[in-house]
Amino acid sequence: MTARPETEALLLDFGGTIDADGVHWAPRFYEAYRAAGGALPYPAFEPLVTAADVALGRLPEIRALGFRATIDAHARLLCTLLPASEAARIAPTRLADPFHAEALATVRRHRPVLERLAAGYRLAVVSNFTGNLDPCLTELDLIRLFTVTVDSGVLGISKPDPRIFLHALAALETRPDRAWMIGDNLAADIRPAAGLGMRTVWVAPAGRTQPPDGPPTARVERIEELEDLLLSPPRRER
Ligand SMILES: [Mg+2]
Repeated sequence: MTARPETEALLLDFGGTIDADGVHWAPRFYEAYRAAGGALPYPAFEPLVTAADVALGRLPEIRALGFRATIDAHARLLCTLLPASEAARIAPTRLADPFHAEALATVRRHRPVLERLAAGYRLAVVSNFTGNLDPCLTELDLIRLFTVTVDSGVLGISKPDPRIFLHALAALETRPDRAWMIGDNLAADIRPAAGLGMRTVWVAPAGRTQPPDGPPTARVERIEELEDLLLSPPRRER
């Protein structure tokens, strides 16, 4: 593929962007939880996912956990936070198995897209993660496609802090106006990157409401659309 000369690098979020089509981890766990007979409404369930994620980051073995082990540990921690009656009857694998299978199918679909993009641009992952992004990307056979991986749990700086993007850009030896940020989270991925002068792509399902003004530069439902977008003639951008 021939890259547009002004674009050198693509920064991608991981969770919800590479492992799903714009859907965060919490709603994906929730779908599995409801299928397993869980009764909490989503607003009560979502904070449990966040709390489990914090606990996950504190596990002594976290730095070595690959993708499957991470999801298993997350689901196990999440189940301990459920109401006692549910914790007793919902096995963690009921949450982990469907989550993992779906993520794997999505990554399998995305891998050739990322391979083609990696042939035209330098790629980075910029993720709010738990210090084990690299083992996860290795297990998913993705790490070879990225020049740079930035894990907030390793760097000690999280999105939306602009310094995490500047760190990635410096490691990629490029600058904001020559790079795009691609992610599913407007607050964490899109607005801070746009604030630095990067172009941005928001990955979001068709039904998700987009604020009427400001970034992103473009919106896609799937990262497959990136190839057309990046190869199309320059468009007038806000
Ligand atoms: Mg995300």
